[in-house]
Amino acid sequence: MNLLERESDVFFHTYKRFSLEIERGEGVYLYAKDGSRYLDMFAGLAVNALGYGNEKVVTAIQEQAKKYIHLSNYFLPEPQLTLAELLVKLSGYSKIFFSNSGTEAIEGAMKLARKWGSARNKEEIISFSRAFHGRTFGALSLMDNNKYKEGYEPFLPNCTIVEFNNPDQFRQAVNAQTTAVILECIQGEGGVRPASKPFIEELKALKEQFGFLLIADEIQAGLGRTGKLFAYQHYDLHPDIVVVAKPLGGGLPLGAFLGNETVAEILSPGAHGTTFGGNPVACAAGVATLKEIIEQHLMENAKTIGQLFKSELERLQREFPSIIRELRGEGLMLGIEIDREGEQIVTAMREQRILINCTDKTVLRFLPPLILQETHVRETVAALRSIFSTLPQG
Ligand SMILES: *Cc1c(COP(=O)(O)O)cnc(C)c1O
Repeated sequence: MNLLERESDVFFHTYKRFSLEIERGEGVYLYAKDGSRYLDMFAGLAVNALGYGNEKVVTAIQEQAKKYIHLSNYFLPEPQLTLAELLVKLSGYSKIFFSNSGTEAIEGAMKLARKWGSARNKEEIISFSRAFHGRTFGALSLMDNNKYKEGYEPFLPNCTIVEFNNPDQFRQAVNAQTTAVILECIQGEGGVRPASKPFIEELKALKEQFGFLLIADEIQAGLGRTGKLFAYQHYDLHPDIVVVAKPLGGGLPLGAFLGNETVAEILSPGAHGTTFGGNPVACAAGVATLKEIIEQHLMENAKTIGQLFKSELERLQREFPSIIRELRGEGLMLGIEIDREGEQIVTAMREQRILINCTDKTVLRFLPPLILQETHVRETVAALRSIFSTLPQG
């Protein structure tokens, strides 16, 4: 029996898997057990920012594992402190809390916002349509996609979901009871959708008027992927809380929320905590990952290779105007909305040994490692071109 046949015997059936058994990874490539090599253009869904097998990360993990793998929170693990100092310095935020995952960091950010609001008679949290913030109840309460929510009701009260990029609806929803607004500046799972400039202008005006906290969910777009440390930096925005995860632990589970001076003193001992969050090995991997992103100029690479990728995709769009409806994203977070279900294209690409992802049914999403080079872009676009040219055009 192969792995997938054995899977159905023991697992709750929550994942649709590719029928591909992976042996190992190296750089931007994954190698299957039959020896075939695949170009990975979605990099563990934005987790593997350095690709596979980065030596600095592997060494950091090995060295920390030899010292200690876990301590309790009665002790401060040095890698946790090093990573905290690095992130605080890079981001300009004041304080940080480490979690195990994205969704837990979102929960922590929501708790922080509620606690800040409780002294101010504010308890409403506003989020947006098509958002993705995770799978726990708090995060799900901020999301409107029924695919993730059906059958799990009831969700948290005092959470309002407003249409994304609709400034008028947004204005109607905000009031003095609004404690926080949570936003992905470029939505990921929702289809690689950037916030529009007028929408962000409205957000800034409303924040000024009503004094709520702004939470930026940078779990997918953050830490260099869009060519800047955070996606919100593409706008003139100053979130009070920033949430990171996916690439943070270099592939190990790690998330965090950062807060500015406004919220720096809200949490007191015992007010929040976690057994595993900020695991020393994950933090050591995180330190190595962030240093590589900076020292190897990977944000700059995401920007320049991303621009090349985008212009090549624009050319493709001109060749296949009826198939490609829209091209969206920044840096190495790109999406093309096509006129049909994306799964067939994902499968056809896999047959050409290139791994891409489809989200929101019709959006082909690219989240490659930040070490991507020009040749990988050309290979990917050439494969898309050959597939699109075999499709009937509407
Ligand atoms: C993946 C993701 C999350 C959830 O992170 P998990 O680690 O899967 O809990 C939250 N927000 C965004 C924008 C994400 O992409």
